[in-house]
Amino acid sequence: MQTLKVGRLASASFQALGSSRLFVLPPLSRHFSVRQTLFCQAGPNPEDTPVIRVPRYLLKRVENVKQARGKPKISTVKAGKLLIQSRNPSLNQSAGYAVGKFEQPVLCSKGWKHNKSFGDYFTINSTKEVAPFIAGAQKDTEQDPSPTFKDLHISKELVETLERNGFMHPTVVQLQTIPKVMRGHNILCAAETGSGKTFSYLLPVIHRLQADVQSESNTTRALVLVPSRELAEQVAAVSRTLCSPFGLCTRTVGGGRGVGHIKMVFKNNPPDILVATPGALVKALRRNCLDLSELTFFVVDEADTMFDPSFCELLEEILTQANIASDPRETRGLGHKAQLLLIGATFPDGVGEVLSKVTDLGRIVTIKSKMLHCLMPHVKQTFLKVKGADKVLELYQALKKLQHERGGGAAVVFCNKSSTVNWLGYSLEEMGVQHARLQGEMPAEVRAGIFRSFQKGTANVLICTDIASRGLDTSKVRLVVNYDCPESHTDYIHRAGRVGRAGGVEDGEVLSFVTHPWDVELVQNIETAARRRTSLPGMKSEIQEPKAKVLNVE
Ligand code: AMP
Repeated sequence: MQTLKVGRLASASFQALGSSRLFVLPPLSRHFSVRQTLFCQAGPNPEDTPVIRVPRYLLKRVENVKQARGKPKISTVKAGKLLIQSRNPSLNQSAGYAVGKFEQPVLCSKGWKHNKSFGDYFTINSTKEVAPFIAGAQKDTEQDPSPTFKDLHISKELVETLERNGFMHPTVVQLQTIPKVMRGHNILCAAETGSGKTFSYLLPVIHRLQADVQSESNTTRALVLVPSRELAEQVAAVSRTLCSPFGLCTRTVGGGRGVGHIKMVFKNNPPDILVATPGALVKALRRNCLDLSELTFFVVDEADTMFDPSFCELLEEILTQANIASDPRETRGLGHKAQLLLIGATFPDGVGEVLSKVTDLGRIVTIKSKMLHCLMPHVKQTFLKVKGADKVLELYQALKKLQHERGGGAAVVFCNKSSTVNWLGYSLEEMGVQHARLQGEMPAEVRAGIFRSFQKGTANVLICTDIASRGLDTSKVRLVVNYDCPESHTDYIHRAGRVGRAGGVEDGEVLSFVTHPWDVELVQNIETAARRRTSLPGMKSEIQEPKAKVLNVE
């Protein structure tokens, strides 16, 4: 508090009211635009000048207003396309402007913790037509033609299979990763979702397996670990297509179907390529259904989820049963070791801890995409501050707009809990919206096939939890709705990554409902990253060396 002396006139009225009273005074000067609330205390002696105690925060505010006066306001709005468009046009930001590193952006979501902000919104507009991970997207393609799969020196049959399926040019991540895998390096590939990571590892893996003189061997030679059954089926389907000219066998093993099913997978000859979820694979290993000691490739897809504490122990158990190479020379010839390929968008701290036990961390080659953890510049992303009770109606409106105004297409609606998926499903059913539901608490038989049928177009709306946000291919999706605000930046990036994928529809949009005060920090971080054009904070794309153990010496 700071004290102010007031004049005689004011002092008389303070005395009349006694000491330690709360006064609401008219504006003291033209610096104040609102009426000021001050604590006043009359002195013990009526002749004394009374003292008004002014809270420090009020004084600071007055100081700020004084200092800001006369200074030119930084205008973030210029003529042309807008990057940020909000309900309050003075907070818009042009596509041609980026907030500087040391400049504090004025956020549309600044007051969103307050109830009065319900109904407010802002949009991060798309500033690019094509995804940045399409090779040649930024180039003058006439002068500098995009590279083809042939340039990657993979087998002729693979190139033909790709072309038959409409894949002519590799994406940026494929261009960077495939040659390094072919040279035998252990790889950490950190690239944005939807950038074509599956081909990045499957193409060199299949190329090597078909070329290998050991191809007659009776063991599984490539293992791909993924976090969910649905993703296992999806990766296996891609692998089967690519393997078709070579007669290589791909099988999946996923949880939830009992040990009998697991044994069936390995009953006859083991598959050349096995796509597995960790839980089911550990069961198979404990029952000696397969041997990992002769693996040529050990692939961990969606590594950020796989190294999550819930999977970490299982992963360690699996990794220690394989002989992982540390040097490219160890991946060739008799008694070769397995080449390790880690694919993901983020790499949590646990990765280094686990991997240091099986390989030389220092020799892993890292491939990191330029736009990693940045908001996708080719996807429009809207944030709407909305009351919980109004979310269903807002969702209904968004789905209706997609069908009637944007010419139709598929939508994925993300909820944070399985129970919300069920509840929302019933509500949409009552509104006549056909949809499919996918959540982790569903029995395996029900879950199996739901995603595939959504991909085939049986239903246009999928309501799901984050189990559908990792790796699943949703090329036909034009709208992602975060019915519940995601709990982390990683979840936001993965959910938003269901639109704007390589080879997918081009005008994807993300709509996020913001309801709770605890959602607001994430939104503010996203808005700040968009205004500064930087990546989202706190997402790791490198393996951290495990901390040296400290011995307590008495
Ligand atoms: P992924 O990141 O592997 O899940 O792939 C995302 C989407 O990109 C899938 O629909 C792929 O079919 C598609 N895709 C992968 N590589 C290419 C490519 N070189 N050209 C066009 N689309 C691709």
